[in-house]
Amino acid sequence: MSTPSTSAAAADAAAAHPTNQRGLGKQQRRRLAAFDFDHTIVSQNTDTVVRDMLPNELVSSCALADLMENECWTEYMAEIFRLLYAQQVPEARIRDTIRCIPEVPGFVRLIKHLQKKLNFDLIIISDSNSVFIDEWLRAHNLSDCFNAIFTNPAEFNEHGQLLVRAYHRQTDCKLSASNLCKGRVLEHFVIEQDLRYNIRYDHVFYVGDGNNDICPVLRQRACDFACARQGFAMEKHLIKNRNKLKLRAHLLIWRNGFDLLEQICVLPQLQGPPSQAHNLDANCKAEIGRRASAVAAAAAAGPSDPVE
Ligand SMILES: [Mg+2]
Ligand SMILES: [Zn+2]
Repeated sequence: MSTPSTSAAAADAAAAHPTNQRGLGKQQRRRLAAFDFDHTIVSQNTDTVVRDMLPNELVSSCALADLMENECWTEYMAEIFRLLYAQQVPEARIRDTIRCIPEVPGFVRLIKHLQKKLNFDLIIISDSNSVFIDEWLRAHNLSDCFNAIFTNPAEFNEHGQLLVRAYHRQTDCKLSASNLCKGRVLEHFVIEQDLRYNIRYDHVFYVGDGNNDICPVLRQRACDFACARQGFAMEKHLIKNRNKLKLRAHLLIWRNGFDLLEQICVLPQLQGPPSQAHNLDANCKAEIGRRASAVAAAAAAGPSDPVE
């Protein structure tokens, strides 16, 4: 995998994080939690909150509606940011607006607890952008909790216009938008951790709420956990199509960060340190074996696709 669009803050965090030190010493068995951002960590959609800083008549214009139709969210947002710049909305106001979005109750605590007390590795995979996510995490003292942040790269240019690019371009996955397949990102991260740092994840938790969180959980193993927000699209879709989708992971339904943390803390799989193979059920051991062969095959085939 080529370099992800890891934000500066996350890159610092990754550099400071012992699990990301290069070197293939003894194999480490760890746990990973991957989070969506909008409506999962923060209680609103960062893009639409910022879009709503524009006058109504601009938001409902035909040009924007056309962009929305053609399905590339980053192109739509690039136009929103261009209009904000044309309306002379300053960078500082946009940053203030992002900082003021409340957390989904309990998520700041959940993230800190998973990282500091339960020793999880944490990542974010989000269709928002690096400027919004960095801004919000910094304001909530969470920047150094994450090993990596995978999102659409963005920056303010010297005139104060926010520029955003697609994370990647993909057409393989029909479940995902063309600019971000979260399932592919998650798989690449897990494989890269193994190949580069000799870190294996006994359990991967994926926490989300939306339709673009379906793809990653369908790629999870039987020893993993798909954590879907109650009453939101991801949960509804998974439950409605349960048999057809063949979800292998355990399904956890959560209402907020407090109850998700409670559910995680009492899981029998998490009692005792990771790496105790006898804690894993037989299915899981077989699955880990299969993934390990896949990883070895990927390594033999050389670096993966150059799209990202
Ligand atoms: Mg979401
Ligand atoms: Zn996908």
